[in-house]
Amino acid sequence: MDISLITKSLVLALLGASLTLFSIRFGRVLARILGARSESQFTLSDIGQRCWILFWEVLCQARVIRDRPLPGLAHAFLLWGFGAFLLAEADHFALPFDYSFVDRQSAAGLFYFWFVFLFALACTVSIAGLAFRRYIVRSEWLDPISAETNLTLALIFVVMITQLPRWWISDESLAGRSVWWLHTAALLILIPLVPRAKNRHILLSPAALFFKREGFSAIPALRGPLDPGLVSGREISRISALQAYACMECGRCTEHCPAYNTGKELDPRLIALGLNYYLDEFGPHSSKRILEVAVSPQAVFECTTCGACETHCPAGIQHLPMIVGLRRGALSSQAWQDKNAARLFQSLSEHGNAMGVAEAERERFIAWQELPVFDGSQEYCLWLGCMGAFDPRGRAIIASFTRIMRHLGTSFGVLSKEYCSGDPARRLGNDALTSELAEINLKLLRHYGARKIVSICPHCVRTIAEDWNQLRERVAGSDQRRVDATIEHHTEFLARYAELLPMEATGRHVTFHDPCYLGRYRNVYDDPRKVLARTFEVVEPPRTRERSFCCGAGGGLVFLGDERGQRMNEERARELVATGAGIVATACPFCTAVFRDAAPSAEIGPQFLDIAQIVEGQIRSEAERKAIAT
Ligand code: SF4
Ligand code: SF4
Repeated sequence: MDISLITKSLVLALLGASLTLFSIRFGRVLARILGARSESQFTLSDIGQRCWILFWEVLCQARVIRDRPLPGLAHAFLLWGFGAFLLAEADHFALPFDYSFVDRQSAAGLFYFWFVFLFALACTVSIAGLAFRRYIVRSEWLDPISAETNLTLALIFVVMITQLPRWWISDESLAGRSVWWLHTAALLILIPLVPRAKNRHILLSPAALFFKREGFSAIPALRGPLDPGLVSGREISRISALQAYACMECGRCTEHCPAYNTGKELDPRLIALGLNYYLDEFGPHSSKRILEVAVSPQAVFECTTCGACETHCPAGIQHLPMIVGLRRGALSSQAWQDKNAARLFQSLSEHGNAMGVAEAERERFIAWQELPVFDGSQEYCLWLGCMGAFDPRGRAIIASFTRIMRHLGTSFGVLSKEYCSGDPARRLGNDALTSELAEINLKLLRHYGARKIVSICPHCVRTIAEDWNQLRERVAGSDQRRVDATIEHHTEFLARYAELLPMEATGRHVTFHDPCYLGRYRNVYDDPRKVLARTFEVVEPPRTRERSFCCGAGGGLVFLGDERGQRMNEERARELVATGAGIVATACPFCTAVFRDAAPSAEIGPQFLDIAQIVEGQIRSEAERKAIAT
């Protein structure tokens, strides 16, 4: 290409300006992330798994394509395009200087530029498809269209479409030169836009996925008794800052959030974007309160901690450490005061249970059901939990499950004394109280030498198995809070003994509601279905397994009183009833209780039963049939 020295200098100057602006903007973002404080207990373990996630979820775009196949593929083409066009773009800028990185006449060059042509074609179609979805279809989960988003999409479109005519027009012709300048101008404007707003996910979401905290919905431990939780910029950790900046505003978290879907103020996307806004406006060293300027306190306390947002976020954003961190901060700074929460905390510290019932009630239940007391000689320690010990619906589940254990000949006992596992206190941000409860319980479990614990409550299972282990900061440098026993949920227990349970087709339909803390938190999806399928035909509701819709009770919300907007239990109960199944099976005492509360408005139909109650019913029917036959 024959170009004057002035034009060459202009190209170099514009390229320099574009790259400088990019560096300044991206440098500002990096400074805010790196300026945030380090995260307690963060370790970069399992590098192999992290590299695999980078390969599978970033490079192959597997999750994005799986969740939304067509838009996912279009998005993948654009990402792959960045790699595919790298050499072609270098060649593009070398052209005025009569230099070429790839010899277009060679076989390899010919192959590469044909590949670029076809790729540019696929990318042009992709961007047109994404634009159609954004401007014409207008998915309600996508963010409102900003001028910057419009400009970015238009520039990418120009960059792609100007790759195409080079095959049939000469670079030396007027048309060829015009296309070259159009392509150059679009690229030079696009480069400094990459570190802005949602565009920066291109650079940051791979990092966010790689540095993601281990474990699902893992709430980082406080740094010590004086750590106030997430109050201001000074407490935002580097991982949270990186995740906040990596949000691509795709709205997948919003789409699956039960709170948002029932008319609450909470939108998980706005939690990440709120921190992003805070860091942009005030920086990581500001003492300005986050809940005053960037995130709604009301929204923070509407979260059920169901984990749907983290499950579906393709950028590796972990919302719960942010939400629970803000709850901790609101509690410690007294920015949130709720009389129901105050009553709950008082019940937990005075009576050791969330219901505020005297301990004697638990003893009466144990005596009434003739439950053996655990003394270390039995195989299983049956954890009752607050629901199993005090709530009539939870007690019925315990009664059924103990009859199954007796039927199977498994030895078990219940602790003579047991306190709440601390689940509601932990999720509402009261770590001190959770810690006290965990400590008392651990002493009891150790004293009686429990080796295997089984529980009907997935919230207790999670808290005992994982949260207690994270509360070590109060016992300096020791491992004293670790539970020596294994703990499992009763559905896992039942699945293991499935061969010994009744197996006779009843011809009846049952639908199963996946409790969040059993499915998403523990990855237990097949066990309950395996048990139910022995006697029933299992029909699935539209939102099932990892897409399950929360019953609304988690995160301590069941103790907080009335919900705003539509009730989550009613919304989910209606969906389960609509499957037409005669029985709705659950595997969490909270789910069972709140679904039964919703039954009147769910136009009553099926029975809402825990899986233990269903299995016990089958055992009884089988025994009756055998008795009649003999
Ligand atoms: S954990 Fe569940 S309720 Fe909370 S923000 Fe995420 S999706 Fe919404
Ligand atoms: S938090 Fe994740 S799922 Fe939600 S909008 Fe951002 S990138 Fe999408």
